[in-house]
Amino acid sequence: MTARQCTLGWPGPPPTAPSGPVGWPDASESYVTASPAPASGAYPTPGAYIDVMSSDDATTPLAAATAAQVRALQRSRAPVQLHRPARPRVFAVANQKGGVGKTTTTVNMAAALAQHGLRVLVIDLDPQGNASTALGVEHGEGTPGVYDALIDGVALGGLVSPCPDVPGLLVVPATIDLAGAEIELVSLVSRETRLRSVVHAYLEAQADDPDRVDYVFIDCPPSLGLLTINGLVAAAEMLIPIQCEYYALEGLGQLLRNIDLVRAHLNPELDASTILLTMQDARTRLSAGVAAEVREHFGDTVLATGIPRSVRVSEAPSYQQTVMTYDPTSPGALGYLEAARELAASAVPGPSSTVEESA
Ligand code: ADP
Ligand code: MG
Repeated sequence: MTARQCTLGWPGPPPTAPSGPVGWPDASESYVTASPAPASGAYPTPGAYIDVMSSDDATTPLAAATAAQVRALQRSRAPVQLHRPARPRVFAVANQKGGVGKTTTTVNMAAALAQHGLRVLVIDLDPQGNASTALGVEHGEGTPGVYDALIDGVALGGLVSPCPDVPGLLVVPATIDLAGAEIELVSLVSRETRLRSVVHAYLEAQADDPDRVDYVFIDCPPSLGLLTINGLVAAAEMLIPIQCEYYALEGLGQLLRNIDLVRAHLNPELDASTILLTMQDARTRLSAGVAAEVREHFGDTVLATGIPRSVRVSEAPSYQQTVMTYDPTSPGALGYLEAARELAASAVPGPSSTVEESA
């Protein structure tokens, strides 16, 4: 994935923005008025989204979203075929912005894939432990979890807990101890590759097991510190949730530069393969406009399915559930099911590896 220059608060070439944060335009280069953009790639002013579609256009965002939802509902009732990947796919779910849907995406993508016969491991790498909560696994202080793997090198096999609601879904929980790990890691040897070592050892140990894990999702914290670096080094792919709001791309330049650094020094195979648009609001043209802008810049990296904003998604964690079990026919659950199918379809299939299921 390459960052094409645009005016959506996208960092221009560093030399042109010497006074702002590293590689980021300073406040005077506002999101909407930075350098005159080429007509096709110009990022409109907020109000300009009103013109994205003319008012007599029948294809309003709401109409399009409703139609997509009906199609998704119909497909969710059809028999589902998912391919097991030839090799386990390890994703870091990362974006240093908080509240963009990393945890929600991690737990719901994982649940959707597991519900359709794949074996999935979630590693909760955020000290807040939100993924552990949503997946209903114990993660009180002192519970064995990812802290023990990172700091003491404990094998993941001894740390996984099954998600009680979703067969085939395993979780390495995060406890509050993890909050100190960022500092403790600094003085340890191989501080950036400690998660990679335990993840690889876990996957290699089950390489010939027919019940081996197919997908690993690492839910990263909202920072670019050592925990996130460990996530990026352990993964082969990245799943980057982008919230459909006006500042969607703020900070993404920093993330992409960090990905380049990780690639150059620690994990050459890291592929920022997948972007997922989250919290799309069909009622606002702003949301549709931001989604269109992200698609224009990142092309096929962006999953065709976006996740609608849906109150059921935000309610589910308080019942220690994913929305896939809490309300499987809600728009959010249908969105994540579609997105999970797309993700599975992008895998190189393994031999005789189709998992068939009638919903
Ligand atoms: P992050 O892990 O990036 O900090 P979260 O996944 O915790 O973000 O999401 C932030 C908040 O937004 C949470 O309260 C979550 O329930 C809510 N949320 C996420 N996705 C949706 C959605 N599609 N619809 C409604 N609320 C959502
Ligand atoms: Mg989170």
